[in-house]
Amino acid sequence: MEIVYGREWYMTGNELDLEKVTKGWKQKMERALNGGHAGLRLSAGTAWLDKRDWKEFCEYEKEVNDSILDTPMLALCTYPLPGSAAAEILDVTRTHQFAIARRNKGWEVVETSELKQAKAEILRLNNDLELRVVERTRQLTAANEELRRQMSERQRAEDALRHAQGELARVTRVTSMGELAASIAHEVTQPLTGIVTNGNACLHWLASAPPNVEKARTTVERIIRDSNRASEVIRDIRALVKKTQPHHEPVALNDLIHRTLTLASGETTRHQVEIQTVLAADLPSVLGDRVQLQQVLLNLIINAVEAMSTITGRPRVLTIQSERREAPEVVSITVRDCGVGLDPQRAERLFDAFFTTKPEGMGMGLSICRTIISAHGGHLSNANNADRGATFEFTLPAYVETPEHVDIATA
Ligand code: ADP
Repeated sequence: MEIVYGREWYMTGNELDLEKVTKGWKQKMERALNGGHAGLRLSAGTAWLDKRDWKEFCEYEKEVNDSILDTPMLALCTYPLPGSAAAEILDVTRTHQFAIARRNKGWEVVETSELKQAKAEILRLNNDLELRVVERTRQLTAANEELRRQMSERQRAEDALRHAQGELARVTRVTSMGELAASIAHEVTQPLTGIVTNGNACLHWLASAPPNVEKARTTVERIIRDSNRASEVIRDIRALVKKTQPHHEPVALNDLIHRTLTLASGETTRHQVEIQTVLAADLPSVLGDRVQLQQVLLNLIINAVEAMSTITGRPRVLTIQSERREAPEVVSITVRDCGVGLDPQRAERLFDAFFTTKPEGMGMGLSICRTIISAHGGHLSNANNADRGATFEFTLPAYVETPEHVDIATA
């Protein structure tokens, strides 16, 4: 706190020196700020002021009022009411942000028009802001609802698409099963014939005196083996044709390749195709739907057989290879033929739905294969071989058993 004498502070000699005063307040404020204070609060009376200087003083007051608006300075100016003329009171209210007057034992705010205007403006801005907040909230709520609606619609569309894809895959499986029916029937008839032959032989060994139990046992073992083979084929066909929800389980692809070749063996035999398999012994399983993956294999095998059906004068060889690849760990399956090969200009279109070059073809096979492999997190591609024919390859992420998986499996 600092007290200065009015006359000394405001006057130089007998004259008001308001420039000195304005500078003086500024210096004091800077000192206060440098001293770590929040600002300057000053209070001044006007008892020392001569009447003749009133007008000039009022101009100074207005200037100070305007110049301290943006500064951390607050001025409380006091004026004695008794003896003040109405004009003087008006001057005071005009030159300050607001005035408070002691009347009827209480304090009253004497509002200046500027203050009134500012308050009205603040009120208007507040109302305006509130309206804008309400409007913006309404817009955001509407946008949010629209987004939610779109999301659930999209979810519904995705579900419907998945369902339609599943249904389409099943229908194509049923169709290709129909096409394969004759050769599949042959595949089942063969073990059945074996069973009858071995059954007769067994009866013969049992009827001989003494019964040859050892030979009878061998024939029964063959009967069991053939029955299992027939059941396996029927199980696979039923699974391929049946309407079931896809479900994921660890699938051993080498085993699936063997079983699929059995299913297709009618076709491969009919077209005199020689089968070669190069299967990796350490092939990890993949996590997937065994029926869908069998559909992919069957489709690639049948396509390869068909691509070689017109080949004459050289062996028709179909090679299926399984491989383990590192970083990232994937399983790769290639189906290679030495048939007519791919037209390089149409190599990508083969995966389009309904693209076929066969008179009886449906053109859905490869499109569905790609959908299935993609849904399993894998990739299906094709290329022409350097010599003859084409190779289709699909890769799938290897299923690495973690300790948790083992726990669940053994729990
Ligand atoms: P579809 O077998 O009913 O024609 P796909 O989608 O399975 O339907 O195959 C589409 C087309 O891709 C076939 O019509 C054929 O022209 C071509 N294609 C598929 N596999 C082979 C292959 N191994 N060699 C040559 N062309 C092939």
